[in-house]
Amino acid sequence: MTPTPASLHPSPAEPLDVVVIGAGQAGLSAAGQLLRKGLRPWRDYVVLDGNDGPGGAWRHRWDSLTLDAAHGIHDLPGMSLNAPDPGIPASRVVSDYYGTYESELELPVIRPVHVESVANEDDETFTIRADDGRLWRTRTVINATGTWNSPYVPYYPGIAEFIGRQLHTREFTSAEEFAGQRVLVVGGGTSALQFLLQLDEAGAHTVWSTRRAPDWTDRFFDSSWGTDVEAAVSARTTLGLPPLSVVAATGLPVTDQYLTGLRSGVLISRGPLRRITSTGVVLDGPGPDGGAVPSQGPVADRLLAPGGAAAGGLERVPALPGHSVQPGQAGQAGQPDTRWETPTDTILWATGFRASLDHLSPLRLRERGGGVRMDTDGVSVTAVPGLYLVGYGASASTIGATRAGRRAAVAAVATVRAATPYL
Ligand code: FAD
Repeated sequence: MTPTPASLHPSPAEPLDVVVIGAGQAGLSAAGQLLRKGLRPWRDYVVLDGNDGPGGAWRHRWDSLTLDAAHGIHDLPGMSLNAPDPGIPASRVVSDYYGTYESELELPVIRPVHVESVANEDDETFTIRADDGRLWRTRTVINATGTWNSPYVPYYPGIAEFIGRQLHTREFTSAEEFAGQRVLVVGGGTSALQFLLQLDEAGAHTVWSTRRAPDWTDRFFDSSWGTDVEAAVSARTTLGLPPLSVVAATGLPVTDQYLTGLRSGVLISRGPLRRITSTGVVLDGPGPDGGAVPSQGPVADRLLAPGGAAAGGLERVPALPGHSVQPGQAGQAGQPDTRWETPTDTILWATGFRASLDHLSPLRLRERGGGVRMDTDGVSVTAVPGLYLVGYGASASTIGATRAGRRAAVAAVATVRAATPYL
């Protein structure tokens, strides 16, 4: 789909009813619902999207993230994704799907337009400043900016001194470029699991580090997993606490593929990362030389026990080929020294994302704990009437984003109609 240049759609002098920021699953769901509620595209509402084409964050995901490796993409309202070839990269499938949705509904999407700030002009109007210098005025804002633009890398001592390569999930394109390298993968989510398996297959020597035992679950993800995330996270956001990560809400399902990875040792966490040296990393846990398997959490421990469902179990962690042990730091008084250092070429931070909300900072939304206090409807920001967050926290899944988008559109239209009852 050809991008709609911002210059073709000058921002009107009168405030719009709604500006949707972001055209991922959440923003498109909201935009479709605004249409169904009778708002006129371009005249009453627009969608400003920072991408140069349809697809939201999916547009940028790595090629090996095929549809069958994803948790599942929920349909946008009123249009089925149908059953595309599961082996096709999800980035392509979803971009095409969103593009079709935009053009069939003739949604007023303008791109690429990056919103730099949203401020209150007065009690009834927001002012939105875009990176092309233009101002948009609107009565309500549906913010659907996702997380992809806010990769999170935790701080560890020595991180700035490391001379090898560091990259985040966001920059991962293909495992093949790491063949023969020693790669530390940090993070306890499904992205980390998929990277580890792909890197191993591509001939990299991997080490997995998690802060605590991985959160394996014997429950399988089905079409309701997004709803479960929603329930688990909304309890926090109504208190203004930062949202939980997806894995903290659902756990890691032991699929056949992951079970094989557990059995081979590729998916055995070697413990938490303690510090980074210029050429390696110091971990705290079983060494790379074939020690006993540390607890991987109750579900995996049961599977890995001798005679467990992992057929023969796993008694010792496999020695790590390509790694050499160096003396670690002394353990605390009376504790065995469990730290070890291993040379590392690359650190892959599969450590997640944070909500991309910087452009909302003039509205001072953040609570002390760093979260945004949400109403019980899951989309209204308690402190700022007329502002809706979708795809945030509880709705950060395609099913959650779809439902939240619809809810926010209904709420925004109700707000506008209450203020301008002649509509
Ligand atoms: P996004 O898709 O990120 O869309 C946000 C849009 O806003 C983008 O187009 C962006 O360019 C735009 N934008 C951002 N900032 C600005 C700005 N300041 N101005 C203008 N535009 C802006 N969920 C599932 O349901 N199933 C899965 O299989 C699944 N797999 C995932 C895999 C990974 C690696 C990750 C990170 C997440 C996954 N998720 C999955 C969760 C996923 O994030 C959501 O499902 C959903 O796609 C997010 O939709 P969204 O509309 O909230 O955000």
